[in-house]
Amino acid sequence: MNEILLCKYGEIVLKGANRKYFEDTLIRELRFRASTFGKFRVTRAQSTAVIEATEPGADMEGLFGAMRRLFGIAAVGRAVAAEKNMESILATAAAYLPQFLSDKKTFKVEAKRADKTFPLTSPEIAAEVGGAVLAACPHLRVNVRAPEVTVQVEVRENAAYIHAGQFRGAGGLPVGTNGKGLLLLSGGIDSPVAGYMMAKRGVKLEAIYFESMPYTSEQAREKVLDLAAKVARYAGSMDVHVVSLTDIQEKLMQNCEEEYFTLLLRRYMMEIANRVAEKSGCEALITGESLGQVASQTMQALGVTNALARYPVFRPAIGMDKEEIIALARKIDTFDISILPYEDCCTVFTPRHPKTRPVLARVEEEEKKLPFDALCEAAMASERVFHIRAKF
Ligand code: ATP
Ligand code: MG
Repeated sequence: MNEILLCKYGEIVLKGANRKYFEDTLIRELRFRASTFGKFRVTRAQSTAVIEATEPGADMEGLFGAMRRLFGIAAVGRAVAAEKNMESILATAAAYLPQFLSDKKTFKVEAKRADKTFPLTSPEIAAEVGGAVLAACPHLRVNVRAPEVTVQVEVRENAAYIHAGQFRGAGGLPVGTNGKGLLLLSGGIDSPVAGYMMAKRGVKLEAIYFESMPYTSEQAREKVLDLAAKVARYAGSMDVHVVSLTDIQEKLMQNCEEEYFTLLLRRYMMEIANRVAEKSGCEALITGESLGQVASQTMQALGVTNALARYPVFRPAIGMDKEEIIALARKIDTFDISILPYEDCCTVFTPRHPKTRPVLARVEEEEKKLPFDALCEAAMASERVFHIRAKF
């Protein structure tokens, strides 16, 4: 069976003069991702990319999943080509459609003829195909008003296409059309979701993970790399910069007041993130912070870390409830990894009574007890880069 995918563009159809740039970026990425599942021909028509296998053995199921994770695509339709005679159309419909209908209760069939020389009228084609579907799936009922699935049959010049219905795509804008951002990626639930959300707006990602060996483990780092791999299924391949904070954390412990540990640590993270962003061409920082979720995410605490940032800091989860964040984490398949119980450097020396309404001047005073710049520079020297290649 010769299956095709129809990928409908999302928001880029609203673009004016620079639509071509968005569309070309989308199609380039679409072709690249498709090429990992087989050999395909990609054609464009009416804000839709049509993908057809040009050799047998293509992984259409894998391709379908990958296209549903491609930002810039609003919906993915599946269809199969049949020969232009009723015998072939009915046999193909009976063989192809049941896999999409086994968990459905109602359907209808719509038919269209671009080729008016075809011997049956559209209503006749629809009725016959409906009969073939009912014979193959006796549990179904026809519902013309509000069917769960609408099967479409299109008789065109070269072939007849049988559509199994449309599936929601990832939406958003093609990755790379809105610059590159550096994601502060911990092993938690929130930051992978934040990375996904910004990638959805067309931001290409790099990530930075701060570790604190031996207080944090090898498994904690593996976990973060696994999370990056999950996000990469949407956002594309990315570099993960790993920087050690062990020395900084130990010095903070020995020299600074306990209630400021977390805030000071987060300021070090911010500064090191600035430097990595600068070096790697990122033009924004991205965090998983959500207002009020923990002591370091009050408005005042965010102000204290934000004061150091030299780039816009995107916090797409800032207005989200934990439950909403978790729902997204499940959708992008990061949740089960995030809840693995490996310690994060933030939880290694957590103050018993963290400052929830810190005053910047007081934090800066505390910070001056240590050589901030020199410590950041030393931490930068510990940087290692792991390239995460996306498996779409
Ligand atoms: P998450 O679920 O993303 O870990 P969180 O609710 O646990 O977030 P914090 O631990 O306070 O919140 O961290 C806030 C944000 O700071 C994180 O979302 C992440 O962007 C960044 N961050 C925290 N710890 C690290 C780390 N070890 N490496 C990189 N970024 C970090
Ligand atoms: Mg965390």
